Amino acid sequence: MDRSPTPNLDDVFAYVDEHAQAFLARLIDYVRRPSISAYGEGIGEVAEYIASVMREMGLSVRIMPTSGWSMVFGEYFVGGNVPTVLLYGHYDVQPPDPLEEWISPPFEPTIRGGRLYARGVGDNKGQHFALLMALETLLACWGALPCNVKVLLEGEEEVGSPHMPEFVSEHRDELKADMVIFSDGPVHENGQSTLCFGVRGVLDIELRAYGANRDLHSGHWGGIAPNPLWTLVHLLATMKNERGEVTIDGFYEHVLPITEKEREALEQLPIDVDEVKHSLGLKRLDEPKERGYFERLAAGPTLTINGIHGGYGGPGSKTVLPHEAVAKCDIRLVEAQTAEEILAKVKAHVQRFAPEVSVSSHGGMDPSKTSLDSPFTVPIREAIRAAQGAYPLLVPAMGASIPEYVFTKTLGIPTFGVPYANADEANHAPNENMEIARFFSGIKTGAAILIYLGAIGYCEPSAWKR
Ligand SMILES: [Zn+2]
Repeated sequence: MDRSPTPNLDDVFAYVDEHAQAFLARLIDYVRRPSISAYGEGIGEVAEYIASVMREMGLSVRIMPTSGWSMVFGEYFVGGNVPTVLLYGHYDVQPPDPLEEWISPPFEPTIRGGRLYARGVGDNKGQHFALLMALETLLACWGALPCNVKVLLEGEEEVGSPHMPEFVSEHRDELKADMVIFSDGPVHENGQSTLCFGVRGVLDIELRAYGANRDLHSGHWGGIAPNPLWTLVHLLATMKNERGEVTIDGFYEHVLPITEKEREALEQLPIDVDEVKHSLGLKRLDEPKERGYFERLAAGPTLTINGIHGGYGGPGSKTVLPHEAVAKCDIRLVEAQTAEEILAKVKAHVQRFAPEVSVSSHGGMDPSKTSLDSPFTVPIREAIRAAQGAYPLLVPAMGASIPEYVFTKTLGIPTFGVPYANADEANHAPNENMEIARFFSGIKTGAAILIYLGAIGYCEPSAWKR
């Protein structure tokens, strides 16, 4: 087995090229099977299906129950002198409606213009299936894998991964690994590959204010009965200033400043800000002005008012003094804020400025970040270049939130996102698709990553530095 620091991947890539049509046919067979977690259609069958695909390639596989839909877990153990890689993906898909907007039916996979159209092909079946085909390729070429591999496929990602935190903490030992790699989401807008190191967290809050026990005439009662909408407006005005700073006491206390390396990586991400402003019809970006575009998404916590409701909003006028008002907000969290800590700070703030307002939350998700200096960064980067001919862009953290913290915090291991889908994959929307070339390149990339990581056992990570 070739485990030198600059492994020869030609035989592996040739195998992928030779078997490309067979891999594609198998992907088609996978995505034509509905597995809709929102209402359970096909979930059990698809868990069995993908478990048997993994079993046939030589992994030992278990379908592990949760209080919701099951996890599919597979393992392949080589030995103690190579890293253990946990590959994560999800076998569930979004509901396909509105059906009438699909050019070809969502569960009748169709090729048009070099893309495969089907629900779940980008999010996430085509991506984790590429990783599985990478394992199969390595086993076919070499008879063994270059690292120890664990595969965890979730069945509830599209409904918010409600059982992931519990599952991961209950199965810490089985999931033990040196790192997590997952392929989900799109590559950069301009088509360049990315290597992602983190995500922002999120916390939702609902503020509710009450006035009288019923709506009142604003002439008869205005100046007598307090207006809950004004109560909320005043309260919200104490939570963020015009400079874009959140003014909740202690809000920034645990925010880690971005490192020099992270700043450099963020500045290298291509973006045409004028084009973004133009396409959104914006004259300016949000405050604070001086912050870089991607720094805003990766390193800036936000407080967003999602909506304020109460009183009358219909045609004409209605001189009503409303009896109730509600504001829904979300807070995007960055390292090392936690949802629990920030919720407590919001409650303390409301207690101080408007104690009659109630605060509730459906809960949140902590942020997650892996260091750009991780010893695995260089081999993964080199592997992507070997498979795709170009280095990936480095994304220190993405703006949106997924429960990646279960790996970086609960398991305490570095986690890398290596997305394969095109930026216009239309996930969660009609006509979801994946460029077929990206599926093939995903198989090669997955294989190259495992080979390069496997080589770590034979040479110190510092030897990778270039
Ligand atoms: Zn999704």
